[in-house]
Amino acid sequence: MTVKTRFAPSPTGFLHVGGARTALYSRLYAKHTGGEFVLRIEDTDIERSTQEAIDAIIEGMEWLGLDWDEGPYYQTKRFDRYNEVVDQLLAEDKAYKCYAPKELLDEIREEQMAMGVKPRYDANHPRIIEANSNVAEDAPFCIRFRNPKEGSVVFNDYVRGCIEFSNSELDDLIIRRTDGSPTYNFCVVIDDIDMGITQVVRGEDHINNTPRQINIYKALGANTPEFAHCSMILGDDGAKLSKRHGAVSVMQYRDEGYLPQALLNYLVRLGWSHGDQEIFSMEEMIDLFRLESISKSASAFNTDKLLWLNNHYIKTAEPEYVAKYLQWHMNAKEISLDNGPALTEVIKLVGERCNTLVELAEQSRYFYLDFEEFEAGAAKKHLRPVAKEALELAKAKVEAVEEWSTENLHTVIADVCAELELGMGKVGMPLRVAITGQGQSPSVDAVMQLVGKERVIKRIELALDYIAKREAQ
Ligand code: GLU
Repeated sequence: MTVKTRFAPSPTGFLHVGGARTALYSRLYAKHTGGEFVLRIEDTDIERSTQEAIDAIIEGMEWLGLDWDEGPYYQTKRFDRYNEVVDQLLAEDKAYKCYAPKELLDEIREEQMAMGVKPRYDANHPRIIEANSNVAEDAPFCIRFRNPKEGSVVFNDYVRGCIEFSNSELDDLIIRRTDGSPTYNFCVVIDDIDMGITQVVRGEDHINNTPRQINIYKALGANTPEFAHCSMILGDDGAKLSKRHGAVSVMQYRDEGYLPQALLNYLVRLGWSHGDQEIFSMEEMIDLFRLESISKSASAFNTDKLLWLNNHYIKTAEPEYVAKYLQWHMNAKEISLDNGPALTEVIKLVGERCNTLVELAEQSRYFYLDFEEFEAGAAKKHLRPVAKEALELAKAKVEAVEEWSTENLHTVIADVCAELELGMGKVGMPLRVAITGQGQSPSVDAVMQLVGKERVIKRIELALDYIAKREAQ
């Protein structure tokens, strides 16, 4: 049987890291087995679902590169189908109309609690039986699934092993509300059957729903899929991951300068492992991923590790890949790339020093934009009158360079040092501040090469002006 998995978010907010991890695991399993991955938007809760959230989820999936083979399906477009199955269950007496009003159910619940009994819907309660007999033709009703009264539901979860629920714990669940809308536990089953889902990967908060859903599969004579319920993600303080811990939305990680590959690599390890390997390309994840190796214990989010992975991918990924995402940050900072070197060259030179693309964009600025002022501290320290001679000689030598290469620029600096009998720092640092406007940068000859001859000369002149003004004071 072809494997088919799905990611089925409810569009009530952005795509958060927990959802992204579920989507990743589902997709990895599908790809590992040569199967298919479906995206389904569970928007039956019309009050809480928004188009904005749907767009945000799709944007997050696309940014992560978690593409799907089928969908997105929308539950709100499938109401006719759900009603058809409700009618079938009614006709087979596997579901029934329940007329018991809310007030009555509330009263019974209070009674149960007063008696120390677990509050639940009891189809055999005399007052409910009474409410369901001799009803007026136009009385409002919901539809309940006739859950088996005896026996138990047993399933084997990939993560948690064998799980058993006694049917006596489960009540007759509402499958269609009084207003005619179908409920989550029902729609999910019909969808998973119709879409041919073979493995359901989802959060452990759904474990209690699973036995109810399995009973519906059985009532419909359908095959039950296999289940893998993933543990929660905790913040680094051990509490359930929330906004309080900083970024939770996947798109916020984009904004903060993470590469999708770093976040995916981080998420795959958050609750799954393959020995002590930390770095996984997408191909390796697909190759090595097993549902059986998902960890049972909750995982704690660790931002330092994510930063470490991000730095790893900035350094080692194809510069073209990094450029694609860095470009977004350059645009956000309104740094036009029209006037300057290829972004891939800047990444090769500056990338390894940066943990995020936000830092990398900031450190790429001077390759594309001219500046009028130098960083105050660096200028004060390095653009002093004693540096004037070195900068003037460097400028003359730069002007004479014919082949604009890092090697030749290296020679220029070495020659200035030799002629003026100065140490490297006395020449390199003023040049660095002149050309980058700041006190830190990669090797200054390589920086000069990328900044370009005309700009290098102009910037040395700007630095000399600065020194002249300082001398005049
Ligand atoms: N729509 C549910 C949620 O967002 C997921 C349902 C499922 O995966 O079965 O929590």
